[in-house]
Amino acid sequence: MKDLRSDDFQQVVGECIVRHRSILDILSKHQEASGRVSRAVAKAATSCGCISIQAEKPHIPEDISLQDLPSYMSNHICGELCDDCRDALENELGTQFFYLTALCDTFGLSIYDIILKEKQRLNTLGIFNLT
Ligand SMILES: [Zn+2]
Repeated sequence: MKDLRSDDFQQVVGECIVRHRSILDILSKHQEASGRVSRAVAKAATSCGCISIQAEKPHIPEDISLQDLPSYMSNHICGELCDDCRDALENELGTQFFYLTALCDTFGLSIYDIILKEKQRLNTLGIFNLT
């Protein structure tokens, strides 16, 4: 199946990845980008302060259904990203997406086909998806 936007992005990534074309570079750069995403979230809380992270053990009644479980779960984020932190996080996610796409491209995999497969898997498993 074809999606022109993701195919175009994947083509541009393939053309731009000149210096770090080795699979070892792509894997390590992808991992580094993942760490920078986490760092951007941490900096939003600890340096900027536009968000705070307040985590605690969820209190889940034993007799609830799996469908009711999401209402007892929290993402532990209080507040909203300011424009600067949102921009920083988007930039880091873009870099991570670049290296994820480069990884797909290196193995001749279509990022669009992978997204479609994952969506079909989620539609099949629904709430029973354990990832
Ligand atoms: Zn902020």
